[in-house]
Amino acid sequence: RAALLDVDGLHVRYRTRRGLLHAVDGVSLSLQAGQTLGLVGESGCGKSSLGKAVMRLIEPAAGTIRLDGVDITHLGPAGLRPHRRRFQMVFQDPGGSLDPRQRIGRSLRTPLDLHRLGTPAQRAERVRELMLQVGLRPELADRQPHEFSGGQRQRIAIARALALNPALIVCDEPVSALDVSLQAQILNLLSDLQQRYGMAYLFISHDLGVVQHLADRVAVMYLGRIVELAPRERIWRSPAHPYTQALIDAIPVMDPRHERNAGAIHGDLPNPFQPPAGCSFHTRCPHALPVCREQAPALREIGPGHHAACHLHGEAAGHASQIVHFVR
Ligand code: SF4
Ligand code: MG
Repeated sequence: RAALLDVDGLHVRYRTRRGLLHAVDGVSLSLQAGQTLGLVGESGCGKSSLGKAVMRLIEPAAGTIRLDGVDITHLGPAGLRPHRRRFQMVFQDPGGSLDPRQRIGRSLRTPLDLHRLGTPAQRAERVRELMLQVGLRPELADRQPHEFSGGQRQRIAIARALALNPALIVCDEPVSALDVSLQAQILNLLSDLQQRYGMAYLFISHDLGVVQHLADRVAVMYLGRIVELAPRERIWRSPAHPYTQALIDAIPVMDPRHERNAGAIHGDLPNPFQPPAGCSFHTRCPHALPVCREQAPALREIGPGHHAACHLHGEAAGHASQIVHFVR
């Protein structure tokens, strides 16, 4: 079955005062209709740039993006318009996507008006329905964004993304600004909505613990590249890449009886303008081999649907007996 989203060899570069930043450095991934791909990594690893490129908010430097088999990589505004309904985005800060002076009923209605969906009465009914779908009372549609809490504003942003029945929603850190109990509510809402309406999510977060709630598959990004890609339970139970292992160790444990410091990942993220040669994780990797400083490991399949870019799992490791499995 053809993928809903198919990204192949994607590069995103920014020209900045400090030089050329290679934010996304040859990423390939695909996402089936109705599925969730979690995209995880530290801030600055290129995941938001990847999300924005998929949404075609920025134009990639190279590679292709196909949505339902249609190459949208270089479409201009007019060419993108018919596809815009099919993909939507939810951001960390819902304030950013909501006009502060606009009543939220109007914000929800705008996409329906722009796409001339149904009669005015049908659009008003659709706004009511959207409010209910995200667990808000329709009477609140007359209020302005500042009259809602952060969690409610995120519900409104989700309702707005739902308005046109998209096939794909790119969620960029949608719960990162919320406290833990609200995070769970929003994640449950996203999961319920997916079950009811069958849209796919590209779910971006710096927090692997959050991604694990929703994702069918997880892609781990480091300095612009995918270093591991696997079904959720493989990532959790048998992470192959030392960076993935470090992200798992960094998940805070909430049980107060077993308080543990979230294990910070050793060392700082290298300067992204001058990524280390070889495996770009070698400056922080506790398992680095001499070859890691010289050769960049390719992303290769190491198990069913499980891909990793690490010499511990490649030809350079020599014998299969040297393959390391991290045990949790
Ligand atoms: Fe560590 Fe080497 Fe694997 Fe990179 S390739 S993650 S440095 S062991
Ligand atoms: Mg980001």
